[in-house]
Amino acid sequence: MSKGRFGEYGGQYAAETLMFALTELENAYREAQADPTFDLEFKTLLREYAGRPSLLYRAERMSADLGTQVFLKREDLNHTGAHKINNVLGQVLLARRMGKKRVIAETGAGQHGVATATAAALFGLSCDVFMGEEDTRRQALNVYRMELLGAKVHPVTTGTATLKDATSEALREWSRRVSDTYYVVGSVVGPHPYPEIVRDFQRVIGDEIRAEMLDKYNRLPTALFACVGGGSNAIGTFYPFIEDASVRMIGAEAGGEGVETGRHAASLTGGTIGVFHGMKSIFLQDDEGQIAPVYSISAGLDYPGIGPEHAHLHKTGRGEYYAVTDEEAIDAFEYLSRMEGIIPAIESAHAVALLRKMHAEFKPEDMVVVTLSGRGDKDVEAIGRYRGQIV
Ligand SMILES: *Cc1c(COP(=O)(O)O)cnc(C)c1O
Repeated sequence: MSKGRFGEYGGQYAAETLMFALTELENAYREAQADPTFDLEFKTLLREYAGRPSLLYRAERMSADLGTQVFLKREDLNHTGAHKINNVLGQVLLARRMGKKRVIAETGAGQHGVATATAAALFGLSCDVFMGEEDTRRQALNVYRMELLGAKVHPVTTGTATLKDATSEALREWSRRVSDTYYVVGSVVGPHPYPEIVRDFQRVIGDEIRAEMLDKYNRLPTALFACVGGGSNAIGTFYPFIEDASVRMIGAEAGGEGVETGRHAASLTGGTIGVFHGMKSIFLQDDEGQIAPVYSISAGLDYPGIGPEHAHLHKTGRGEYYAVTDEEAIDAFEYLSRMEGIIPAIESAHAVALLRKMHAEFKPEDMVVVTLSGRGDKDVEAIGRYRGQIV
């Protein structure tokens, strides 16, 4: 139980059949880490297929407006429109290396499912995606997108028929077919070694920020902002800076209609310690330890827990985490569109909103980086309806 710990969080809480699969995965990952051709293949795919490095854009109008120097890390420019492709390409390479012929994934809104289906098509692997039935109705276009890419989508009807139930079903399916199946986890969550593997594949975000800041400005940023669902784009941004105490690391959680209303997904702000989906971490749960229903306008942040490394960074105070409401995120979605000509994912708009709330803490000579985890095309219709501009 001491494996894969971040302080008291993390670990490996799984039934016996899964313990076998997790050990096989960890052994294969350690071998891959020690093999320079694996890293070379991964970096080549990131460059030639995903379109990395992503731009670190100096946002002049926003800087003038907020009184500090603002940089946007443009993960929205990656192939498939978000940071998720980084992790998925790494894991599918690992699946191929392990000789697995089939990959499975859970998905909420469909972003991770689409990224996994994309990578499976690229490698000629069969792909099954588990998605809550409720979500398949809300995100019918993404269901078709995954099918177009050759994946099969399985609607999950248990529980609230949303992301947490899809995740439970994917874990069950994996334990049924460990021999030929690789489970591509979508964020820095789940049992060890997933939080470590996904973080390692996403740290390219922070590594690029660090290298470019040192190269162009000969200094490190004052602060990093990122939105936090399970926490993969945030840990990818933060991780290379953890030892640099001068760099503030600030995460934006989904505050939904307000943490005080109970309708939110801000795990660190409103949650308690527990064990779920194979890890010890902080979860939104009731007094009996039942996972509570979560809500956010942003489907990508709508998960009742958070990765164990963030729980630890929060506990030690190294990371700062604050809730941002739907309304604040929508304002920031419109703000960035008008201010910089960039329509961000509603998830990423939470990070922009948090900088807008905190900007008075930064001086004109400070440099702050906001990771834009994804592009906003997928959200335009929903926000238009919310604003009554589309009927
Ligand atoms: C999935 C998603 C997120 C949330 O996931 P993390 O693991 O917390 O990064 C954020 N932004 C976008 C665009 C997403 O697709």
